[in-house]
Amino acid sequence: MLAIEALQPGLVKQFAAIIAADRLGQAYVFNGLSGTGKGALAQWIALRLFCQNVQAGHPCGECAECQRILSHNHPDVVVLATEARSLKVDDVRELKAELSKSGVEGQTRVFVIEEAEKMTPGAANSLLKFYEEPVPGAVIILTTAAKNQLLPTILSRAQIINFPTPPRVQVQAQLEAAGVSARLAAITVQLTADLAAGQALAADEQFQERITRVLKLAGQLAQKDATAFIAVQASLMPVAKALPEQTQVLALLALVYEDALNQHFHVAGPAAFATEPVVAQLAASGATALSTSLSAILQAQVQLRQNVTFQSDVEQLVLKLLAV
Ligand SMILES: [Zn+2]
Repeated sequence: MLAIEALQPGLVKQFAAIIAADRLGQAYVFNGLSGTGKGALAQWIALRLFCQNVQAGHPCGECAECQRILSHNHPDVVVLATEARSLKVDDVRELKAELSKSGVEGQTRVFVIEEAEKMTPGAANSLLKFYEEPVPGAVIILTTAAKNQLLPTILSRAQIINFPTPPRVQVQAQLEAAGVSARLAAITVQLTADLAAGQALAADEQFQERITRVLKLAGQLAQKDATAFIAVQASLMPVAKALPEQTQVLALLALVYEDALNQHFHVAGPAAFATEPVVAQLAASGATALSTSLSAILQAQVQLRQNVTFQSDVEQLVLKLLAV
């Protein structure tokens, strides 16, 4: 089975039915976070259209046609992707040349532009002719994580397919399959459901350091150790200089308390830190203390967004948490 069939079974089923009924459209926009399988589904459609050995509506992935597509060597499957910041007119020229080839009547051809939001208005406009006069047999698929950045003229002429974000357990399994430790995968997946972003986060040593320091702070708080106040400046500030990092520190602290509250009530929850000893210590502090603490953390998160400085925000929070 191809990976996309496990990642987006609903969309694969939908397109299998559309192609079986010979109702594939001329233009699609695949919209969704990175890691949701947009490019892989576009490739699956190409495989399904060209495979010589389709079984129960699914391409085999092994025949000569499938192999050519999988190795990016199929002349009728053109994928445009760039590492650069933008896709310019010159970049789509080849694609346009292919599109304007008359070819055999109704010849099947698949064109994919990845990260289509990178297209300059000039590049997008140069494709508009195709949208206005579709070429029989040709399908053009734009993939994007930001469909609102595409030209309205492109969007209005395409069918927009929104890719659901996969459930966290699935992303967690994928992170582990990619070599991320089970512990780190369980934490990471609470902060992002995007596989690529999760992998980057898990590989970031600063992120791991933040986790260590947040857990240490939680330990001090669990023991009502007043040095927790000093730890804000001495321990947290150096690893949380910018707002995204500061937001992450508070999110991690919230996860610790959420896990403690869930453990107190013996219910399943995010379980990012469930096996950490500090969670058990906090869980013993009781439901009232835990829910008061969680609302204080929530308030600190709101205040951080309202431009309160991180240091004074977390210092106030620590005083509240020590007093609970
Ligand atoms: Zn095949």
